[in-house]
Amino acid sequence: MRCLMCGRNKDGGTFRDIFDGADPLCQNCRRQWQKKKIRFRLDGIPAESSYVYNDAFSSCLIQFKEQGDEALKDVFLHEVRDYLHFRFHGYTLCLMPSTDEKYRERGFHHLRSMFECLKMPVTEPFVKISGQSQKKLGRRERLEMRSMIALAEGAVLPEKVLLCDDTVTTGATLSGALSVLPESVRKVRIYTVSANVRWL
Ligand SMILES: [Zn+2]
Repeated sequence: MRCLMCGRNKDGGTFRDIFDGADPLCQNCRRQWQKKKIRFRLDGIPAESSYVYNDAFSSCLIQFKEQGDEALKDVFLHEVRDYLHFRFHGYTLCLMPSTDEKYRERGFHHLRSMFECLKMPVTEPFVKISGQSQKKLGRRERLEMRSMIALAEGAVLPEKVLLCDDTVTTGATLSGALSVLPESVRKVRIYTVSANVRWL
């Protein structure tokens, strides 16, 4: 099997390459990721991340998300899959939205692909309004809708939700999602695969 980032043949690699043959990355590439259990709060809600958003993580995310390398989908949660399954048992994954333009441009839903390997219940109740469509809204509507996130019409949410995103940079998207959650949601947690240094 070849490493999905550098293309090196893993069969001739280190002991760990052979031992963890299921990892789509070779140990050399994996070592450049900085795994770290990062805990913080966003608008008072407990949040957790598994990696520092560094160059290695960022290039892999860009190759996956913006260059359409969908084969990389299982790379991101490979090391933490079992842990997340256990830690957030009973929660429904609630994926952060992209704009319709982005979905069309990419041709796939990157978070859906990324979180699929957890085999947990998933919901996508939010919509993200693009700058273009936002101009059509009235001033008050614009003010009410923080970070251009809205709840999709008719969206029904379970009682326990885990808001998920690939990375947290400013927290604006997650914060916007928190602000439109209906009261029927009793327990909320946040998980982002990586976190930018400002959250450390
Ligand atoms: Zn590699």
